[in-house]
Amino acid sequence: MIPTLLLTSFLLTAQLPYPDKKFIDLKNKLKKFGFQVIIQLPPKRGAYGLLQEASKKIWINPVVFELNISTQTLTHEAVHAAQVCAGKGKIKTLGLKIQPINYARPFFMHYPDVHRQDLEREAYAVQTQPNSFELAISLLQQHCK
Ligand SMILES: [Zn+2]
Repeated sequence: MIPTLLLTSFLLTAQLPYPDKKFIDLKNKLKKFGFQVIIQLPPKRGAYGLLQEASKKIWINPVVFELNISTQTLTHEAVHAAQVCAGKGKIKTLGLKIQPINYARPFFMHYPDVHRQDLEREAYAVQTQPNSFELAISLLQQHCK
């Protein structure tokens, strides 16, 4: 039993180069609410993270661990997960009052679809707050039950 556990934890470490505690906590919270987090290249080229509404799958590009933005990326996708919960499977905005900082604007203003822009605006707003991790957790708890 013990050797099996050691091997498992070794393999997990090998797959996830630098998962910090917040990343693991958020991943577990998402799992609890039915979202599967996969550390793999997302099907959309160039994306750091991607959430597929229908399957409730979240892809996290392994490169984010090297760039040291893994928790930030998962926090962003967790907001989209809360949006999926809020819309009962059909993604919708949460109606958050906070705004993203200005430098984040180019990251979502390029979306041609205004609905998509609003969804992204919320995700970037949360992601760029000083308490982004706690905020993402509380949004999940509020909207996913
Ligand atoms: Zn997004």
